[in-house]
Amino acid sequence: MISVINCITNQHNIWLVLVAAIVCVSGSWAVIRLHLRGRSASSSEALGWQFLAATAAGASIWATHFIAIIAYQAGTPVTFDPVLTIISLLVAMVGSYCGFIVAGMPRISWAPAAGGAIVGLSVAIMHYTGMLAYIAQGTIDWNTNYIVVSVLLAVVFTALAIHVSSRQYRIDGKLAAVGLLTIAIVSLHFTGMTAFKITPVVIDDGYSNPAAMQAMALAIALVSLIIVGSVLASYLIDSQTRTQTLNQLKRMALSDSLTGLANRASYRDHLAARIQLADNGGQRFALAAIDLDRFKEINDLRGHSAGDEALKMLAERMRHFNDGSLFIARIGGDEFSMIMPVVDRSSLRKTLMRLRAELLKPFDIDSVELSVGASIGVCIYPDDAQESEALINNTDLALYRAKTEIIDKICFFDNVMDEAVRSRRELAAELRQAMESNQLEVFYQVQTSVSDSTITGYEALLRWCHPQRGYIPPSEFIPLAEESGLILQLGEWVLRTACTQFAGLGMDVRIAVNLSPIQFLHPNLPGLVADILGETGMKAANLELELTESAIIHDKERTLAQLQEIRKLGITIALDDFGTGYSSLDTLRAFPFDKIKLDRTFMDEVETSEQARSIIRAVLALGRSLEIPVLAEGIETSDQLAILHAEGCDTAQGYFLGRPAPLANILAALREKSQVDELGIGVKELNGDEGDGASVAA
Ligand code: C2E
Ligand code: MG
Ligand code: MG
Repeated sequence: MISVINCITNQHNIWLVLVAAIVCVSGSWAVIRLHLRGRSASSSEALGWQFLAATAAGASIWATHFIAIIAYQAGTPVTFDPVLTIISLLVAMVGSYCGFIVAGMPRISWAPAAGGAIVGLSVAIMHYTGMLAYIAQGTIDWNTNYIVVSVLLAVVFTALAIHVSSRQYRIDGKLAAVGLLTIAIVSLHFTGMTAFKITPVVIDDGYSNPAAMQAMALAIALVSLIIVGSVLASYLIDSQTRTQTLNQLKRMALSDSLTGLANRASYRDHLAARIQLADNGGQRFALAAIDLDRFKEINDLRGHSAGDEALKMLAERMRHFNDGSLFIARIGGDEFSMIMPVVDRSSLRKTLMRLRAELLKPFDIDSVELSVGASIGVCIYPDDAQESEALINNTDLALYRAKTEIIDKICFFDNVMDEAVRSRRELAAELRQAMESNQLEVFYQVQTSVSDSTITGYEALLRWCHPQRGYIPPSEFIPLAEESGLILQLGEWVLRTACTQFAGLGMDVRIAVNLSPIQFLHPNLPGLVADILGETGMKAANLELELTESAIIHDKERTLAQLQEIRKLGITIALDDFGTGYSSLDTLRAFPFDKIKLDRTFMDEVETSEQARSIIRAVLALGRSLEIPVLAEGIETSDQLAILHAEGCDTAQGYFLGRPAPLANILAALREKSQVDELGIGVKELNGDEGDGASVAA
């Protein structure tokens, strides 16, 4: 060690040693950065980066070596062999390249150390090839021990440098690697130079020119620094481009491409962060969901590009409105979400009213003045919900209410008011599962002739036996199924079930199945009905379909055309719940119904109200004149039945005649009837109280 220090201090031009040190440290820094960049690049790009690392390594280490050699005061004239000098440079470059490629091999833990060792070895070979190129006037002696130690130092420290660089990507890890690489180069050189001893034998004193040598050393330093500098410049340009691209990608990933507002992903992140902040003692905040009203009209009437233009304009208004305290995101077509600070509810409402007023201002697109409305639902964290999903859901519920309100279009979440909507939504989701898990059943209610009590048919009525809530009345779940569109599957299931159950019985009785107005939106309802008849073997003449006037009002032309088709199959069509709703004579004129079902509400008062009785009489007269038989619904007492008999009603249905019941009960009653017919027992006793799910639910 002392000999090495003596060698540096006594036998070297210290200024040139300093220049060599600068080249060495700056080169090492560049080499480590470029090598690490290569490690993070894709395989083909990695080769390019490792080439640059090797170029920087070759140039800087070779230059360090040559400047330090020139700094060495041999005490005798010296010169260099040009071929060996160039070979030494190539050895450093090619060896480093191989070493860096090995070091960069993925998923091999020892690869960086092995690659580093190759780089160290090639640097050592470079050093000694360079020394062979060193021609001095004198005899040269080598100390083998120092040579071995110098090579070991180069190999071990370079291996360590590359290993450390691969383990830690933090700045201190990089610095340690640069330090170790510098130690490798310096220790190789000076230990190598200690192994080297010249005994001068001056033959020609004009052999070398020290000033020219020093100039050459400086030139080499300059060139190597230029090489390292240009390689580093490419690195810096690359890292800047990468940063820009990353920032752009980040912007794209977090913002909505149309409006430039934050997108749903960014909104979710932001919301989670705000919740955490509030949980850690930060300010409570409000989540507002904004939905544009009449936006669909712009899209439908003016085209999608006008719709896009409108969204951009409205987003710009929101951005302009934002004083920096709001986080605004577009989370869907015409839906926006806003996270805002809360001082109190009234100032929150005022802010939202101002924003809404901005959104409602008309705007021009293609010289046409357009405008939209806006409904806003608001929920406060943590007052109204204690976690993110609940907060979003409750905001949605408040928005849902705001959309249905006519005047108050800004609704704050209200646990009581929004609870009903929530339970409806839950029920709708459960209904979907109910179909799959056999919770649905079809009950049948008898229809009988008023004059002689004979059975004319049965009405199929859907029942849902909820595992926790028991029987849920159709009046509750049918509207849900209609809202969600599930009624299409549900209606088809009821029709298929009723047909399957009755076709197998071989009974000549008519089964009435209810059709929802929504089912007429089916692309081919007559085809579906025909298919079900074919599949189940049900006779068309034994099937009746019931529909209410609302089905016809919805899309008259289309519905009537479908009804004609269905009727052509031989199926009869009944007009259900007549007397409620529209009760338009036009409906009766528009289609030749096979039956009018008089709504049960008239039965309630028939015994006491002359008016109710007059209406029944009028409907029966109407039926007679149009030659359409009338069935009275909701017969609960023998008096009601007697009145109907007196008024000349054809058929009836009601709890007095038989409650809706499962098929098994109906069949049991029928079997009993065939045995007791001879005894003259009436229909009521036969179809008696068999457990109406609806009444259970009620
Ligand atoms: P609807 O078609 O008018 O069916 C008659 C309803 O009156 C049934 O109610 C039946 O249980 C009830 N009812 C029968 N007799 C009496 C009585 O004497 N007194 C009283 N108070 N009620 C009586 P339910 O089963 O609750 O069905 C209600 C409505 O739900 C039905 O009215 C029908 O519009 C609809 N619905 C039932 N099942 C289906 C179905 O499978 N598909 C469709 N689309 N709608 C159905
Ligand atoms: Mg009905
Ligand atoms: Mg009815």
